[in-house]
Parts: sequence; structure tokens; C-alpha cells
Amino acid sequence: MVIGGETLTVSFTVPAGACDSRALLPDVRRLTDQVTAKAESRAAEAGRTVSCRRGCHACCRQVVPISTAEARRLAELVDAQSPERADDLRRRFETVRRHMQQAAPRPGAKAGVAASVAYALAWFRQGLDCPFLEEGACSIYADRPITSREYLVTSPPEGCETLDPEVVQPLTRAVSVANALAWTTGPGKDSWIPLTDALAYVAATPASAERGGPEWALAFFENLKDAG
Ligand code: SF4
Repeated sequence: MVIGGETLTVSFTVPAGACDSRALLPDVRRLTDQVTAKAESRAAEAGRTVSCRRGCHACCRQVVPISTAEARRLAELVDAQSPERADDLRRRFETVRRHMQQAAPRPGAKAGVAASVAYALAWFRQGLDCPFLEEGACSIYADRPITSREYLVTSPPEGCETLDPEVVQPLTRAVSVANALAWTTGPGKDSWIPLTDALAYVAATPASAERGGPEWALAFFENLKDAG
């Protein structure tokens, strides 16, 4: 398929039969890596290099929008931990979720770009780490959400400490795979949730509807066309 003028070879390995939306995640992660690698190459041609390094983790204090499929995957991961670790993670999730409901309420779906930017800044200024951040590193790196995979910068890492839009230069991607995934797994456009709402969402929402694997994949590709 052609994304942003670049041809990508994408093969999906979803089950032929009925499955839930989590079946998309391995293939969508591989696609994200391809899209990101192309974006890095284009940036390098323009003399810019990605400056993100292990240990610089200011982005893990930003709001991380995820799809409902990823919410279910993250809840599974938490459940798979030792009882002590799972309890600790659940406490962290709930602490950030409750705090942000008061300090950085999410704007409505039609609020516009300025309100979304204000929301993101208000969130960041609370200075609360993602529940999965451990000693400056992501403790679920292989399973981190698409947003965490896509977000890279070419500006000096110090800029991320203030999230100054005059300084921070995110890597420009041809498409937002995270948006396409969130729109696909639903329940509709603007259906993303903050990562820290994942456990509350899963507890309150019955398992996602099943579709055939190819049907999920086709719906995802349809959404990808609009997810620039
Ligand atoms: S999931 Fe990992 S990479 Fe993403 S914000 Fe949390 S700690 Fe950071």
C-alpha cells in the first residue's frame, strides 16, 4: 500500500475466523515500525536525527491515547503480573486516573485543536508518570502502545522536559497508525482513551465485539486512509 507517497509492503496475519480486536495488534505494531522507519529516513535526508534515548522519559508524563484493543491488552498484562505487582500497578493507574479527572478533564469530541492542546499541556504539567514507567524505562516495552511507538522527536531531549511547542519537534509521520487503530476498534471516531483509563474501561465494558480477522484488517486499512 502507498502511505504518504511511500510504498509499504504490509502483510497481516490475523485469524481467518472470528476474533476480537486484539488480534490486530501484532500486525499493527509491525506496520508502525515500518512507518516510523520511513519517517526517520526522511528526517535523516533532511539532516535531522531522532534524539530519543533510553533514560529520557519526559514523554511518559504526557497523556498517552490508546485504542480499546490496547486497553484490553494492557489489562491482561496487569492481570498476568504477580499479585503484589498487579496490585501496585492497579493503584498507580487509579491514582493517575482520579487525579487527571480533576486536574485535566478531557474536552468533548468537538472541542477543537486548541482545546486538545490545552488538555495535553494541562495533563503534562501535573508531572505524573505513566504507571508502567520503572526507573526511567518502560517496563512493558515490547507491549507498549502504538502512540508510544510513534512518538519520537528530533529536537534536543531537554525540550521535552517543558513540552514547549516552540522547541519540541516531533518526527513527522505520513499517517497516525494509533488513530487508525483507535477508530477501528471503536466504538467510533474519537474513541481513544487515555492509557491510565485502561483498567477502568475494561472493568466497565464487556469484551469487544468479535469479527472475522480479515474484516478487522479491512476496517483498519479503510481508517488508515483518513488517519493522516
Ligand atoms: S507505555 Fe511505556 S513508553 Fe508508553 S508512556 Fe508508558 S512507560 Fe512510557
